[in-house]
Amino acid sequence: MNLHEYQAKEVFARYGIPVPQGGLATSPEQARAVAKQLGTEKVVVKAQVHAGGRGKVGGVKLVSGADAAEEAAKGMLGKMLVTKQTDAKGLPVNSVWVEKPSNIVRELYVSALVDRTSECVILMASAAGGMDIEEVAEHTPEKIKTVTVNPAAGFQAYQARELGFFMDLTKDQVDQFTKIMAGVYKIVTECDASMVEINPLIVTAEGNVFALDAKLNFDDNALFRQKSIAEMRDGSQEDERERAAAKFDLNYVTLEGDIGCMVNGAGLAMATMDIVKLHGGQPANFLDVGGGTTAEKVTEAFKLITASPEVKAIFINIFGGIVRCDLIAEGIIAAVKQVGLKIPVIARLQGTNMEKGQALLRESGLAITPISDLTEAAKAVVAASKA
Ligand code: GDP
Ligand code: MN
Repeated sequence: MNLHEYQAKEVFARYGIPVPQGGLATSPEQARAVAKQLGTEKVVVKAQVHAGGRGKVGGVKLVSGADAAEEAAKGMLGKMLVTKQTDAKGLPVNSVWVEKPSNIVRELYVSALVDRTSECVILMASAAGGMDIEEVAEHTPEKIKTVTVNPAAGFQAYQARELGFFMDLTKDQVDQFTKIMAGVYKIVTECDASMVEINPLIVTAEGNVFALDAKLNFDDNALFRQKSIAEMRDGSQEDERERAAAKFDLNYVTLEGDIGCMVNGAGLAMATMDIVKLHGGQPANFLDVGGGTTAEKVTEAFKLITASPEVKAIFINIFGGIVRCDLIAEGIIAAVKQVGLKIPVIARLQGTNMEKGQALLRESGLAITPISDLTEAAKAVVAASKA
């Protein structure tokens, strides 16, 4: 789960990481009021969406006066913001964050994330902040320094000093930076954050170090014990179908193709997408209905797939190990009867009671083609999607 910048800055402040003073606005008039209240000549108006890269597309504006703040907010609110990190549709801007401007002298990059290879939290820093860190990593990896935190010992001040001196901070700035990194590490361990990113962390003309941007990502599996974080969820920034799927315990990820896939088991789902692609098709989604799936889950999964107008054909690939193929067939038939069917379905049922399952599909009188060979089934669904 992600937070908005303004929410992440609230969390930062709670953990002693300095952030610029500001206020939230959901209307242009409110943006004007916040600008007035801040009392500075200039303010920064920032579109709140779950994506970075806003600066390059007009989602971050430095303006003079309350009138201009209102105008800037008007230009952002109610619109979809498309950045390098969103899809082509973009994300809705329902609020803007209005903050005091900063006298930026340097833009740095810092982050903390769970590194699966070392099974530790790593802290990363670079003097090349304010830009696309993926690009820095690709072209000038020597500009990024990483330290690994030993989970038993926890964060140590010397690790932050190492990163601070690597970025050529002065001694006083390194002291400020060390407090910031202690806060960053605490957010990871206490809030179950899977990533904390500050890009840019700035050094001001006054010699202060603080977070100008804030990105926080949380481990969904830990949200049950992070009530205050979970309450900050903004569904408007998330994929509707993925949220609906989560309610039924289905693993669903929206993709860009036109073949709806319904598969049991994440590994089989990956293999299914591979074989669809191998034969020239494009999956519309990744969907794992789970190993021990039920007819009800199959129905919900089917509804989810057919709700996407882009889907031109459906590929069902179920291995009956724990679950029986005839039960799956019943689920498919029930689902089709419930939601209707306007597009071809290719069903590959393998495993326990597969003959019975295939017979049920064949005798249902519905436009479902059972094919038991995986390659044949994949070729058939790709052809159906292009017909
Ligand atoms: P992002 O583009 O979505 O990552 O948004 P950021 O919050 O990182 O802002 C993008 C850029 O806007 C920063 O890298 C800064 O260069 C600039 N910016 C943001 N706030 C200020 C500010 O208070 N003063 C000035 N001069 N520039 C700012
Ligand atoms: Mn940023």
